[in-house]
Amino acid sequence: MANHLADPDHNPSFTKGVFLGEIRESLIFPFPELSKEESENLAAVLDSFRSWAADTVDSKQLDHDGKFPDAVRTGMAELGMMGMNIPEAYGGFGASALFFSRMFAEVGTTDPALTVYFGAHQSIGCKGITLFGTEDQKQRWLTKCATGELIAAFCLTEAGSGSDAQAMRCSAVPSADGSHYVLNGEKIWISNAGYAGVFTVFAKVPIEIDGKLKQRVTAFIVDAHAPGITLGAIEQKMGIKASDTRTVSFENVIVPVEDRLGDVGSGFKIALEILNSGRLGLAAGSSRGTRAILDRSLVYAKEREQFGRPIGSFEMIQRKFAVTAAECYAADAAWMTCAAMVDKGGIDFSLETAACKVYASELAFRASCDAQQIAGGIGYSKEYPYEQAVRDSRINLIFEGTNEVLRALIALSGLQQPGESLKALGKAFKDPLHSLGAIGSYITGRVKKKIVKPEFTKVHPALKEEADMVSDAIHGLALAVEKCLIENGKDIIERQFHQERMANAAIDIFFSSAALSRCTWAIQKAGSVEAAEADIDNVKVFVPMAMRRTRRYVRALEKNGDGRLKKLAERALATGSLTVQTPTDA
Ligand SMILES: Cc1cc2nc3c(=O)[nH]c(=O)nc-3n(C[C@H](O)[C@H](O)[C@H](O)COP(=O)(O)OP(=O)(O)OC[C@H]3O[C@@H](n4cnc5c(N)ncnc54)[C@H](O)[C@@H]3O)c2cc1C
Repeated sequence: MANHLADPDHNPSFTKGVFLGEIRESLIFPFPELSKEESENLAAVLDSFRSWAADTVDSKQLDHDGKFPDAVRTGMAELGMMGMNIPEAYGGFGASALFFSRMFAEVGTTDPALTVYFGAHQSIGCKGITLFGTEDQKQRWLTKCATGELIAAFCLTEAGSGSDAQAMRCSAVPSADGSHYVLNGEKIWISNAGYAGVFTVFAKVPIEIDGKLKQRVTAFIVDAHAPGITLGAIEQKMGIKASDTRTVSFENVIVPVEDRLGDVGSGFKIALEILNSGRLGLAAGSSRGTRAILDRSLVYAKEREQFGRPIGSFEMIQRKFAVTAAECYAADAAWMTCAAMVDKGGIDFSLETAACKVYASELAFRASCDAQQIAGGIGYSKEYPYEQAVRDSRINLIFEGTNEVLRALIALSGLQQPGESLKALGKAFKDPLHSLGAIGSYITGRVKKKIVKPEFTKVHPALKEEADMVSDAIHGLALAVEKCLIENGKDIIERQFHQERMANAAIDIFFSSAALSRCTWAIQKAGSVEAAEADIDNVKVFVPMAMRRTRRYVRALEKNGDGRLKKLAERALATGSLTVQTPTDA
């Protein structure tokens, strides 16, 4: 198994290339395939999971009861699901990221709360031990996580520190003899807390640097039954009700030094790496979940007649199916491309997993609302699955990094390299005689960028028009980004209207590129363009739609009403009201 690290400081990234006006095609081509052996394994595992789930998992009942019956939890363990992505050496199945994400998606279509149980355990709960644990830690903890004897949970969020994880207050103070740490503090919103046997906990360790006491975020593996740990009541939630979410409090909890995960001060990086790959499962689950709820709508749209014909024959209903189909095509292409990056290793996939999470979570929520709308009045009834799909899918926009924070991450990480080269250029112009090389190479690069737009070379000729649209968009985005950086300098950090546009453009570009890769593969596999008609139709709907949006975002980087937008928001915040007086106000 590859080491599954994005390692953004060292590895190449497709999306960072886009911000520079480059198409790093080798990172997204060829479209990934499972080996024959993996395909057979996947079919067998899917089969046994599906037949078990059909008998055991009643999503509506879980939503009603707000908890899992024992049969669900023991069944998941007996099927080997809880060790799916834990390496074989520690008793797990050792699934690749592609295989694991596909299984994640299957659990997602079965029941979203069960996905949280499954994902909080191994996508984030014990993932840190797999990625960063010592051999001893893996032997002691992972082996039990693999069998489901221990359920894992991930403890990062605190009352005062959600998106801003660095602001955490939880502390871990080393003992005088260096044998252990004393953990104090409280974590909130912890999925699986009530079932957990082990927690990955992030806390600040005081260390002296240059004679000054500093606090450094550090990760720990914590026995969930250690003295001093107490759990809060189960949170009453809008959706994913059967998932167990609670506060976890630590009062003078002794954590042996051998259970520190990684070095002192490496906790923030560890948390980010865990979440980088963890988001992939969530994206796959959202995308397949979208397909599952729309499949129900398709049946309904054929059966339900109004005005003497099936509602599925009306174009306003058809548009919802068609657009969602094309979006699912691109979303599946994107998470699979991303999973292949994780499996290959040596690639920074952090922006792509964030992109997959943002797009797929919003797609699943939007599509659930569409499915509810297609169902009309019964869409609002608890007897049918639509309202639960709306409630269950809503959380995905919030956890594992809110979509706002992930958009900022995509934009600011993408801006890093163009920003650095401009900074270097700024310095060079201060001392031009000694910096002719730097200025020369910048100008050559700049001119090249202006004259030669990047080209896809591996896309099937049948998709040339769409490939050109994406190349144009990349070229346009890179130029607009540069202009924006020159205009805003480091103030770009505060310009979130721009960051949102750049992130949205970058997401659409990555999704379109992944869809082109998938469709190229499909044409080659089918043997002719005609035989891959359904794939081509999806791409020819998705790419122009996504590139129209992208052109709008890019244009708005230069021409926008941001000044007034900001004024409106600030006035509302200052007055506490969105509207100005109307004639009907009393
Ligand atoms: C059901 C559920 C399960 C969860 N499971 C876990 C778990 O297992 N482990 C765990 O550690 N945590 C878990 N969480 C916590 C979750 O990850 C956090 O709720 C999430 O990170 C957001 O933090 P917050 O709630 O403090 O919101 P805040 O960070 O306060 O954000 C509030 C709003 O402000 C926006 N915002 C914040 N900062 C910025 C910014 N810089 N720019 C623009 N907008 C910004 C956010 O996007 C959001 O819209 C769970 C939460 C829920 C609801």
